[in-house]
Amino acid sequence: MAQIIDGKALAAVVCIEVAAEVQKIKAQGGVVRFAAVLVGDDPASQIYVRNKQRACEKAGIEFTLHTLPATCQYEDLTALIRRLSADKNVNGVLLQLPVPPAVVGDRLNEVLNLIDPQKDVDGLTLTNAASLVEGLDGLVPCTAQGVLYAINSVCPDLTGKNVVVVGRSRIVGRPTALLLNNQNATVALCHRRTHNVAEFTRLADVVVVAAGCPKLLTADMVKKGAIVIDVGINRLPDGELVGDVDYENVAKKASAITPVPGGIGPLTIAFLLKNIVAAYRHQNRL
Ligand code: NAD
Repeated sequence: MAQIIDGKALAAVVCIEVAAEVQKIKAQGGVVRFAAVLVGDDPASQIYVRNKQRACEKAGIEFTLHTLPATCQYEDLTALIRRLSADKNVNGVLLQLPVPPAVVGDRLNEVLNLIDPQKDVDGLTLTNAASLVEGLDGLVPCTAQGVLYAINSVCPDLTGKNVVVVGRSRIVGRPTALLLNNQNATVALCHRRTHNVAEFTRLADVVVVAAGCPKLLTADMVKKGAIVIDVGINRLPDGELVGDVDYENVAKKASAITPVPGGIGPLTIAFLLKNIVAAYRHQNRL
């Protein structure tokens, strides 16, 4: 039976480190401030934002939520993002996704790139994405950092390991593949158009699944002893929260596995806090 990678416990350690850093900053007269922007009233987004608020407040980070109605204009959103980006009293800015298509249409990238890259704690601006490609310092998407941290907790050296990432979104799959590649793993990035995902996953020492598809990764797709990281969060019709992995059966074959909930979710929030403090330090040249 696989070792369970306890994301909640790992995240608690990261959060304690961040809180200690924030205390140090406060002792020097500083304040770390974070602004989240929420457009519309999607219930899942409201829960995600509330969780971020709770974590910030626990760590001593000042949190402000800016809400816009789903009926707002594109210009209302860009004006708000520009204002927060220019505000010297704001260290981190995050636009909660998804933004209603009626507001952004196909211009989401334009909005995201209005965020000052030094405040872009979701790591979605072109500047931060390019830094990750080049292996340079920058703000890296929080979930990707959480995945790397979870893997490193059971496998500190990824040199030469075969890693398969299923899902290539700009917020999870793609940055995760880049981070792992920067740690000298050999990475294959699978997606919806991959002909035979199992052909890749069966060869992998580490499999990361971030597809949004319940039970996408089954036991026959996994090599014995593999490390399995489940990023997926899916709500079944009966209300149950599940990941992308057939947990029960894959856990019998893997050497280590993350549960859902209690795996990558808490780590994502922990690394958001870490990014906010890193942004503060960078802006204050600390
Ligand atoms: P997305 O829809 O933007 O991207 C999904 C990716 O998976 C795409 O690249 C798609 O090609 C691929 N994919 C989908 N079905 C596939 C299949 N059958 N075979 C192979 N590839 C397939 O989603 P996202 O934003 O990257 O999120 C993915 C999942 O992770 C979702 O369940 C989401 O809720 C969850 N998520 C969790 C956290 C967390 O903190 N744990 C954070 C972000 C997203």
